[in-house]
Amino acid sequence: MRTIYDLSLDELIAYCQSLDYKPFKAEQIYEWLYRKEVLSFKDMHNLNKELILKLEEDFVIDPLFKKREQVSSDGTVKFLFKLEDETYIETVLMAFDYGYSACISTQVGCNMGCTFCASGLLKKQRDLSSGEIIAQIMACKRYLKSMAARLSNIVVMGTGEPFDNYDEVMKALYIINDPKAIEIGARHISISTCGLVEGIKRFAKEEKPFNLAISLHAPNDELRSKLMPINRAYPLKELFKALKEYSLNHNRRLTFEYLLLEGVNDSSKEADELKELLSGLNAYVNLIPYNEVKENSYRTSSDMRALKFYDMLKKRGVAVTLRQKKGVDIDAACGQLRANEYKRED
Ligand code: SAH
Repeated sequence: MRTIYDLSLDELIAYCQSLDYKPFKAEQIYEWLYRKEVLSFKDMHNLNKELILKLEEDFVIDPLFKKREQVSSDGTVKFLFKLEDETYIETVLMAFDYGYSACISTQVGCNMGCTFCASGLLKKQRDLSSGEIIAQIMACKRYLKSMAARLSNIVVMGTGEPFDNYDEVMKALYIINDPKAIEIGARHISISTCGLVEGIKRFAKEEKPFNLAISLHAPNDELRSKLMPINRAYPLKELFKALKEYSLNHNRRLTFEYLLLEGVNDSSKEADELKELLSGLNAYVNLIPYNEVKENSYRTSSDMRALKFYDMLKKRGVAVTLRQKKGVDIDAACGQLRANEYKRED
């Protein structure tokens, strides 16, 4: 059954009106869902019995069944959720000094085929609905509430390519951002893409200043096409043309994610190319230690090499940060927990 989180406030109003209820009934339901965070229609005390029964007939609230929960020594929590159709998704909560950040999935599996990524080991089975995306956030909020902690940031960096499921992802983000709903500021929400140019062009027209991150991982077409087959469809020239337009329109800082793969993309040649590629853009590079996956032979750069690459970029005037490792003692690599669950079931 469909989750009621799938409905925007306008859709909820239309639903209520179709049952001869005034729009304020929809506002009350919306408030129960997102401000009071109830998980049962019966707990919505200002609705009459008839409406509660009708809602129960038409919707579930929480579409996620928590199958596993792994807590890392650094505070990272990884959830494995089962969906109604017996597919699985992962959501990760990461602890930072400023609060918690939730990393959410947008698809069941992924079709982008990046050669280093565990998510791509399992092809896309389907897109997630906006409600299934929102439900991941609600689950994180509940978990944090029990520890009196707060969810402060959202990163759309879990399994799936968000711009391959554009409409549902954006619908979810507007509800997550809505002051009447989850109320997380647009600047605290980041969306990461492997570089789907049409998506970037659409995203440039969005009203809200959500942050944009690009998974770059390589500064030339030859290497990038090897790591990320999507680069053959959207080579760097085309990608950067769209990014420059986006940047001109918004003057918002772009983030480039760059995995550190030992001996693959971490030498002075790549540092030179990276500097050249990013010149003139308001951007910074986030160097990310690679979470190794058994299924391929990529290794993460040693700490020494990672620091050296970081220094090379700094010296070339590139704005750069080196991301700390998170959740290394749990199945932390993107899609790993999920991939392991399917193996367990085989
Ligand atoms: N499809 C989107 C979002 C999901 S992937 C994108 O490509 O950006 C989120 C990020 O995790 C991407 O930067 C991806 O390249 C990176 N990633 C994938 N596998 C990883 C691994 N094993 N270790 C570290 N980062 C990984």
